[in-house]
Amino acid sequence: MELTFESFQMNLEEVISEINSACCACNRRPDDVTLMAVTKTHLVQAVDFAERAGLTCVGENRVQEAAAKKSECSVSIRWELIGHLQGNKARQAVQTFDRIQSVDSLKLIQQLDRLCHELSRPTLPILLQVNAGNDPAKFGMDMDDVPPLLAEALKSKYLQVDGFMTIAPLSDDPKVAEFTFENLSNLRDVMEQRFDHKFPELSMGMSGDLNLAIRHGATMVRVGTALFGHRDKI
Ligand SMILES: *Cc1c(COP(=O)(O)O)cnc(C)c1O
Repeated sequence: MELTFESFQMNLEEVISEINSACCACNRRPDDVTLMAVTKTHLVQAVDFAERAGLTCVGENRVQEAAAKKSECSVSIRWELIGHLQGNKARQAVQTFDRIQSVDSLKLIQQLDRLCHELSRPTLPILLQVNAGNDPAKFGMDMDDVPPLLAEALKSKYLQVDGFMTIAPLSDDPKVAEFTFENLSNLRDVMEQRFDHKFPELSMGMSGDLNLAIRHGATMVRVGTALFGHRDKI
């Protein structure tokens, strides 16, 4: 990574001011929105930068990459998985991450719960990833599958459902992202009523659409490019 800490700090200031003005526009407190630094594909230095600048969590989309970086650095920061999780990586994911945002199937819910038992992990915070924009190219459970999967997750012994995560479909039309974020936020409200349970976390919004996400209630935005520059790899 060629980025210096100084230019990272300048990028960070811009992202923070975008978060602040989005909050201001909808009368929300900037403190209610957590900025996650998405460090995937970047060197471990990106994690150090995030920690030095006072950020509290990083997002990675591959289990092995995150585990390797985590063993290379001693910073105390929360590690969260934001990429699709395959069954054969689930054990390492439970050992590596503070929270898994990409829980999207019944099988994975059952497997993670079992692994917590095996690994003596008392609780595993999770988010359910929902395909709230009906994007055929995206992972995440369908909206209709949320109630039964949520019921299963709430019944589990070790999983703690903090809320929901979504990725808006790629589109030039901001209405598409807006529709996606609104859908997730409404879904959360309906699920809170239905299960009589709070699901405070709404993880939505990335470099290009964090503004809209905040206006629709995002409590966490996941930002990579705007902080660290473009990625060579996907
Ligand atoms: C890569 C990624 C991000 C960050 O995207 P940017 O556009 O680089 O900010 C956010 N969320 C998920 C799930 C990602 O995979």
